[in-house]
Amino acid sequence: MKIVFSEKCLEYGLWHIEGPIRVKIAYEFLKERGYEFLEPTPAEEEDILKVHDYEYVEGIKKGILEDEDTPAYENIYEYATLSAGGAIMASKINGFSLMRPPGHHVGIRGAALGAHTRGFCYLNNIAIAVKKLNKPTLILDIDGHHGNGTQEIFLGSKDVFYISIHRHPLYPGTGYHSEFNCLNFPLPAECGEEIYMKTLSKAFNMIDMSKIEVVAVSAGFDTIVGDIASLGLREDSFKKIGEMIAKLEKTTFFVLEGGYIGEKLGKAIDALIQGFEK
Ligand SMILES: [Zn+2]
Repeated sequence: MKIVFSEKCLEYGLWHIEGPIRVKIAYEFLKERGYEFLEPTPAEEEDILKVHDYEYVEGIKKGILEDEDTPAYENIYEYATLSAGGAIMASKINGFSLMRPPGHHVGIRGAALGAHTRGFCYLNNIAIAVKKLNKPTLILDIDGHHGNGTQEIFLGSKDVFYISIHRHPLYPGTGYHSEFNCLNFPLPAECGEEIYMKTLSKAFNMIDMSKIEVVAVSAGFDTIVGDIASLGLREDSFKKIGEMIAKLEKTTFFVLEGGYIGEKLGKAIDALIQGFEK
């Protein structure tokens, strides 16, 4: 599997928890492991507007939208469109987009489903890629936080299904129960790999896979022990997760979300890809 990456995504936000170091360390680890990398091009505005409201996109562009988690960095629109472009490229090559900023907390007009912030997100990268593909898709969100933005964007959709396995209670305070096409599996802190894997299996069994052509994975890694949404997973737990995704036998791509411990992030991404490709 090829990895989509641009060093441009390391240029901002050094002081922030969602900073460049985590991705830089992961990138260097994966480079050492021999992966091939491709440079993304920015998403087109036309594709962004399939997901986000015009006024919201203009606000990001002008640098006037800011909340306590999500600063209005200089040139953030360029970084955000490049990260969205990374997701689009990953969807075309069935690869892994190792780009930041992440995206799953941001909805149509910004903070989603009553959340107070956009949780480090500017454009919903995976949603932009899925809308552009326009195929029956299962979005699997394995980040430790509920992807409230993604749920808001696709709630009620007939051909996009959403599964999220996340820690509860935790930011953004959504995803306690399932609604229509959005299946939510809140789990207690540090529940561990066995419960996690059983939950993932149960979630897959609830979807009519004959209706699905593409699996898009919101690949967050903050469920690892010591990270901010730990469910007690280890780096090599992601090998099992990758194997289970591969068993669906669908066209699949991956888009980075959270995961804030760089050393663990690189190893977990490698494990996920190795498990998937086994
Ligand atoms: Zn997260």
